[in-house]
Amino acid sequence: MKSPCTVMQERIVAGERLGEEHQAHVLGCTQCARFAADCLALDSMVENGVDAAVSVPDDFADRVMRNLDVANPGVHWQDFLGRRWIQVVLANLGVAVAVINLVRFVFSALIPTASLGGVP
Ligand SMILES: [Zn+2]
Repeated sequence: MKSPCTVMQERIVAGERLGEEHQAHVLGCTQCARFAADCLALDSMVENGVDAAVSVPDDFADRVMRNLDVANPGVHWQDFLGRRWIQVVLANLGVAVAVINLVRFVFSALIPTASLGGVP
């Protein structure tokens, strides 16, 4: 039996629209509100990653996992990693890191050329 918070957070990760009742829960529940904020932050990082020159906070994944631990006491890591929505979160994190690495590479490749007066 899933807790209401787990159901809510799964729906948030899946990008489902929340009904009024569920929105009220997310707004009134510290865990879910924080989880939703983290998800939104991740989404906007992925969307605006290049412009914002973002870095993923070191403890981002830890915080997400900690939130999930609190919401699901007694569930083991293997169960978490097997879940589709965790894989979605990790995949999004991977995309964010890949974007950052790409930006770094582009800058490191272009900036020395330009500073020597070369044509990029
Ligand atoms: Zn909740």
